[in-house]
Amino acid sequence: MLKTKIVSVVGFKKSGKTMVIESLTKELTKRGYAIGTVKHGSEKHAVDTPRKDTWRHMQAGSKASAILTPTESAFFITKPLSVRDAIAFLGERDFIILEGFKSLDTVARIIVLKDAEEVKSLSNGAEIAVLIPPTIDPVSIKTDAPKIRIDEVEKLADLVESKAFPFLNGFDCGSCGYRSCAEMAQAIVRGAEKASKCVYMNEENVKLIVNGKEIPIKGFVQDFIARTVLGMVSSLKGVEEPKRIELLIKNGDLLHE
Ligand code: SF4
Repeated sequence: MLKTKIVSVVGFKKSGKTMVIESLTKELTKRGYAIGTVKHGSEKHAVDTPRKDTWRHMQAGSKASAILTPTESAFFITKPLSVRDAIAFLGERDFIILEGFKSLDTVARIIVLKDAEEVKSLSNGAEIAVLIPPTIDPVSIKTDAPKIRIDEVEKLADLVESKAFPFLNGFDCGSCGYRSCAEMAQAIVRGAEKASKCVYMNEENVKLIVNGKEIPIKGFVQDFIARTVLGMVSSLKGVEEPKRIELLIKNGDLLHE
C-alpha cells in the first residue's frame, strides 16, 4: 500500500474534476497502470439506493452490509473512513486519484480552475499542475506549477508519473527534518526531497517481534502502533525528536522496559 502513489484533483463545483479524473484514469490505464479512485462526498446523502435490499438491511439496523455479484462487490458501513483507511481498502494500485479533499495537504495535487482567481484558494504548495479551461488566458494565472490546458491529458499523465508520491501519513513527527508532512510534501513536489525520507515510507521502519518471531504488520496496524508509541514517547520529558524507538515488553514477569 505504501508504494501506491496518490494524487488529488481539487477544484470548485462544476470545474470539471470528474471529467479530468475520467480522462486521466483512461490515459494511465492505457499506459499499463492499475488505478483506484476515491471521491469526497460533502453532502449528507444516502450512498446506497433507497429501497434496494442492502438499504433495507441498513434501515433495519445493520451497521455494515455488502453485496457480492460475480463481477462486482460493494460494501456499505455506517461510519466515515479516513482517506488513508479508504486508500488501504482499495489495495495495491499504482496510482490512486482522489476527487476533492481540499484540506488534504500531504499528497500531490492537481488544481482544476474555472476562474483565474481561484488558484489562490486552491493552492497549498503541493500542486503538480494547474489545469486551465479554454476561457482563461494562462498568462493571468499566478502559479509556479506547470499550467496546462484541461484537455491535455497526456501532459497531465506525464506529470503524475514523474511527480506523484506515496501518502504521507500526517504524523508530523519531524523525523524527516521538516516540521510537518505538509512541508515535506511541498519539498517533494519542488524536487528538493524524496518521499523515501519519511521514516514510515518503509514498512521495515516499524517492526513487531513477539517471542523472537517477527509479526508482519501493515497499513492501519503499523500506523496505529507507530502513532501511539510516538505520541506517548514524544510527550516524555527529555525526549527530543525521537528518531528510533525500541520498546521491549516482558509479559511473563510483568517487567516492562
Ligand atoms: S517523517 Fe514522515 S510522518 Fe514524520 S513529518 Fe516527515 S513526512 Fe511526516
